[in-house]
Amino acid sequence: MKTYRIATIPGDGIGKEVVPAGQRVLEAIAARSNTFGFAFENFDWGGDYYRQHGAMMPADGLDALRDKDAILFGSAGDPHIPDHITLWGLRLKICQGFDQYANVRPTRILPGIDGPLKRCAPQDLDWVIVRENSEGEYAGVGGRAHQGHPIEVATDVSMMTRAGVERILRFAFRLAQTRPRKLLTVITKSNAQRHAMVMWDEIALQISQEFPDVRWDKELVDAATARMVNRPATLDTIVATNLHADILSDLAAALAGSLGIAPTANLDPERRYPSMFEPIHGSAFDIMGKGLANPVGTFWSAVMMLEHLGEDAAARQLMAVIERVTADPSLHTGDLGGSATTAQVTDAVCALLASEAAGGTAATDVKAA
Ligand code: ATP
Repeated sequence: MKTYRIATIPGDGIGKEVVPAGQRVLEAIAARSNTFGFAFENFDWGGDYYRQHGAMMPADGLDALRDKDAILFGSAGDPHIPDHITLWGLRLKICQGFDQYANVRPTRILPGIDGPLKRCAPQDLDWVIVRENSEGEYAGVGGRAHQGHPIEVATDVSMMTRAGVERILRFAFRLAQTRPRKLLTVITKSNAQRHAMVMWDEIALQISQEFPDVRWDKELVDAATARMVNRPATLDTIVATNLHADILSDLAAALAGSLGIAPTANLDPERRYPSMFEPIHGSAFDIMGKGLANPVGTFWSAVMMLEHLGEDAAARQLMAVIERVTADPSLHTGDLGGSATTAQVTDAVCALLASEAAGGTAATDVKAA
């Protein structure tokens, strides 16, 4: 029996609610299996840790994660700590330290979810956004001088390397190749950004030759927002730079019904280091501690973790259960217009997993109490 070592890092805000919920669901899926289980180790890093220690995580924190098979992450963000400290001190430290250069964000309108696009059937919106996750606009290159003086200057330099662009575009073409439509849209802005984005376009053309069976097109990032809203069915796999994909994937999550549902994977495709799985939402301090957070984004992230671990059957089973739960409006949390709690949604998913293992039951048997 294989035991996967999983690090859990709830972080801040509702991360402290959805990550334990995700762990419960992973334990429930493991309980059905006689071939694998999990050994969890929890890390209390984040805003509270920063208040005590002056850092979001210990200096040697990456060493504690290095031997793990995967990381389940919640969120980093604290109303009393500047955002650039919470982001760079924890999440980006792990992503960059472990060279998790491919950020993968599937988007679908799950059963029972009412998306805001009125002319969009659920099957019209089935995307995977691939975000470059190691350089570009978030490379951290830049600086400030003359601080506090009228001549103060600040720069953020977008840095793109040939190696970095080649590997993310190759990853995206390969992913598109595995999907039924074999269709990739490369997001660019080479009309205005005339150096790095022009190189990005050139490399896209070069890598495309390796994948003759993948149809691909290019779209300017501004036009892409309109296309996502007006012609969602013309998109399938989408690849974009760090900043562009950051923005497009929040739009995608909103178009699929809620930020609370969307998952993401920060992958080291070469598997030199553990990869990290997290809901795309942030710490949502407005609802923290009330048991109102939608845990579905974390559950879907757990599905991606199972896929990454090679447990494809378990991943499919968990996704099917998640879809049965979203199909039931009595199990919708506040972000979806319902009144279910985090615990009720989690209980429903765990109960369905347990009952299916025991011979199966109907989703309607597990309504919110
Ligand atoms: P951060 O600064 O950490 O990114 P934020 O609070 O600015 O966090 P998000 O948490 O990403 O931004 O989300 C914005 C709003 O969406 C939240 O204030 C919350 O009301 C809602 N929201 C986000 N995630 C969830 C969720 N899982 N369940 C319910 N509502 C959510």
